[in-house]
Amino acid sequence: LKNDPLEQWDRDTFLHPSTHWADFARGKAVHRIISSGEGSHIVDREGKRLLDAFAGLYCVNVGYGRTEIADAIAAQAKELAYYHSYVGHGTEASVTLAKMILDRAPDHMSRVYFGLGGSDANETNIKLIWYMNNILGRPEKKKIISRWRGYHGSGLMSGSLTGLAAFHNAFDLPLVPILHTEAPYYYRRPDVSMSEEAFSAYCASELEKMILKEGPETIAAFWGEPVLGTGGIVPPPKGYWAAIQEVLNKYDILLVADEVVTGFGRLGSMFGSEHYGMKPDIITIAKGLTSAYAPLSGSIVSKKVWAALEQGTDEMGPIGHGWTYSAHPIGAAAGVANLKLVDDLGLLENAATVGAHLRKAMSDAIGDHPNVGDIRGEGMLCAVELVSDRETRAGWDDQKPAVTAVARLLADGVIGRAMPHSDTIGFAPPLCLTKAEAEEVAEKTAKAIKGTF
Ligand code: PLP
Repeated sequence: LKNDPLEQWDRDTFLHPSTHWADFARGKAVHRIISSGEGSHIVDREGKRLLDAFAGLYCVNVGYGRTEIADAIAAQAKELAYYHSYVGHGTEASVTLAKMILDRAPDHMSRVYFGLGGSDANETNIKLIWYMNNILGRPEKKKIISRWRGYHGSGLMSGSLTGLAAFHNAFDLPLVPILHTEAPYYYRRPDVSMSEEAFSAYCASELEKMILKEGPETIAAFWGEPVLGTGGIVPPPKGYWAAIQEVLNKYDILLVADEVVTGFGRLGSMFGSEHYGMKPDIITIAKGLTSAYAPLSGSIVSKKVWAALEQGTDEMGPIGHGWTYSAHPIGAAAGVANLKLVDDLGLLENAATVGAHLRKAMSDAIGDHPNVGDIRGEGMLCAVELVSDRETRAGWDDQKPAVTAVARLLADGVIGRAMPHSDTIGFAPPLCLTKAEAEEVAEKTAKAIKGTF
C-alpha cells in the first residue's frame, strides 16, 4: 500500500511475540496486517486471501466471521461490558458458561475457575495444587513433572512447565520445582525396533524412575497435553496414557491435562482426556473455549480437588487468588455462543472426518517423497515431518526446509506453520474445514515441499 504509515508505526512501536525484534525493527522481518476473515480464510490488508490451515494459533475453531458470536459479544458489551467475579459475583453469561463447560466435561469434574489465557490458567493450576497439598498436610509434595517438548505457556511457572529450550534460554527458566521427562515422540524413539506399546512402557518407566529418584512424597503433579502441540504435533503412542496414569495412581500424583489445544473438539471428541481415556484431576482450557473471539481460559477441577479446596476455604477463609478479568463477561458471552455453535454445526464430527481426510490426502500427495519422514495427527491436526534422510531420520540444525516450504505454501495462498521446535510443517485448521479445502491444503503442501528440495 502506497504511503501507508502503518508499517513504520509497527516497526517503530510494537514488540510482537515470538519475533526477531531487531530484524523486525530494521525492516528485515515480516510485517503483515490481517484485516478480515470468513470461514477458514483470512484476508490481509493488501487484499490477499489466505486459507488459514492453522486457525490463527490453533484457536479459531468455529472459523472466522461467525456473526452469532460477534452479536453475542456486542449485546454483552452494550448491556454490561464488565463486572468482576470476586466474592460471589458473576454475570448471566459467566454462570451459564460454567454450567455448559461442566455439562461437557468428564463426569468426575466438578467446578471451573476462569482466567484469560492458557498460560495464566496453568499458573492457577499450580497454585491450586500447592494449596491443596498444604491443606492436606503434605507441604513437601510440591514438585511437578512435565515433558520435554510440552508447551504450557510463557509465564514464569507455565514457561517452566514448557519443555522447549527457546522458552527457557536467557530467562533463567525452568524455575524449581519443575522437572521434565521423556516426550512420547514415537518417530524419535531411542530405538527404532520398539513397538508403540514398548515405547509407551519405556516413557512410563522413565517417569517412574524420576519419581523414585526425587521421592514420591515430593511429587505433586504430572502435566501433559493429550497430543503434544507446539513441540511438533505428536499424538501419543498406543497405550501411553494408560501406562502413565498407572504410575501416577501408584504414587498418588495428580494428572493435569493441558487441553488448551485439544479441548472442545479438535481431536473429534469434546476433550482429549475422553479421547484417550485419561482421568485428569485438572483440565486446562482456553483457545477453543471461545474460538478466540475473546480471551478466556479455565481450570476445570475434579471432585477430588474440589473437596480439598472446599476444606481449605473452610479452614483458611476466602482463597487469595484472583484476576480482575476472571470470567470477563465478554469472554463468557463469546464462550456461550461458541459452544452452541460447536454443537449446532456438528464440528466434532467434522473434525474427525475432515481431519482424517486431510491426513489421507497429505499421504497420497507427498507421503512417498524422500524428504518426508512422517505424516501424523489426530482429529483436525496434521503434521508433516521433513528429514534429510528417511533411513537415518536425520533432520537439520536450523529448521530451514520447513521454514522455506511454509513460505512457499503461503505464497500459494495457504497458511501452515513451521513448528518452531522440529523440522515439521503443522496444520491445525478450523474445525469447519471442508473436504475440498483439505485437499487444497494437501496439494499445495506437496507442491511447496517438492519446490523446496
Ligand atoms: N497450553 C497449551 C497446550 C498451548 O498450546 C498454549 C498456547 O499455545 C498454552 C498453554 C498457552 O496459552 P496462552 O498462549 O493462551 O497463554
